[in-house]
Amino acid sequence: MTPADLIREDILSLRAYHVPDSAGLIKLDAMENPYPWPEALREDWLAVLREAELNRYPDPQGHDLQAALREAMGVPLDMALLLGNGSDELIQMLALALAKPGRKVLSLDPGFVMYRMIALFAGMDYVGVPLRASDFALDLDATLTAIAREQPVLTYIAYPNNPTGNLFDAAAVERIIQASPGLVIVDEAYAPFTDQSFLPRLGDWPNLLVMRTVSKMGLAGLRLGYLAGPREWLTEIDKVRLPYNINALTQASASFALRHHTAWDEQTATIRAERAKLFDALAASDGITPYPSEANFILVRTEPGRAGAVFQGIKDRGVLIKQLHGAHPLLADCLRITVGTPQENAALLTALEAALSMD
Ligand SMILES: *Cc1c(COP(=O)(O)O)cnc(C)c1O
Repeated sequence: MTPADLIREDILSLRAYHVPDSAGLIKLDAMENPYPWPEALREDWLAVLREAELNRYPDPQGHDLQAALREAMGVPLDMALLLGNGSDELIQMLALALAKPGRKVLSLDPGFVMYRMIALFAGMDYVGVPLRASDFALDLDATLTAIAREQPVLTYIAYPNNPTGNLFDAAAVERIIQASPGLVIVDEAYAPFTDQSFLPRLGDWPNLLVMRTVSKMGLAGLRLGYLAGPREWLTEIDKVRLPYNINALTQASASFALRHHTAWDEQTATIRAERAKLFDALAASDGITPYPSEANFILVRTEPGRAGAVFQGIKDRGVLIKQLHGAHPLLADCLRITVGTPQENAALLTALEAALSMD
């Protein structure tokens, strides 16, 4: 017997999610916050961890963490929360709770790959509606037509979008929520880097849920995401959650960090300021076109056929970014650069200039 006799054909034909080796490189490929845990808070945090009872299972609901999240993020009081081991796990829970053969998940492409991957794992069909080629704006007519035709049970809208970095028109998102026969998940993974949010709009439509994560604010290693929305929905989705999915060290660390969130707010404000500087520098460089971003990364386009060489030229000079050429037709010649520290961004720009001047 071989794996091919038992493993599903659709799984056999997949390639596993690939994380490139970044040893020794400046890491600007994965939308991480480049700053470490704030020095002034280290001792108090370690004191909290010293008290953690690791012989016991964690609080199954994460009550204290939920309270800290509500307070720090301004979750409307009448809305419920559901915690996930990263928002990736919440996407998986939604799929487990809703999947039936023939049911569809819809999103906008190019978008976050896990919407499509997890739909496929759960045996659902994925429908990707193309964004507008010129500026990656949401094509409202095409999206409404696709929703009417496909009747998706789940629609994901990343707000701002990854990997394009732009924020869709809020009125268009509202039209999509209204027109959807299923749940609409507004994924606000990049909330710390924009002033726009649908969190205050929860309850305006019965089918709106908002998903967020602490990964991009600077706590990617903790793996914590949350879904906010009407209790009647989250009570059902909670039934497919594995018990104790948020470990004790994550609960303690995230609760602490959220109660001291101003330290992380300073970091994300610095990243926003650096984003503006990096954008201007990229716009001034010949052979690169950056796209406006409301996230902690910038999508750029090279001249036709140059993305691979520019990516490799930058990597050879010690900086890892993300190669997107080939990932989607609209991403031809595109690269994605995470905003780093001022020093890291300077190193990136130096490496980029050198890579662009190669033959
Ligand atoms: C990074 C990202 C996530 C994943 O967040 P985790 O909480 O780290 O799993 C979700 N959605 C989008 C759009 C992202 O870019």
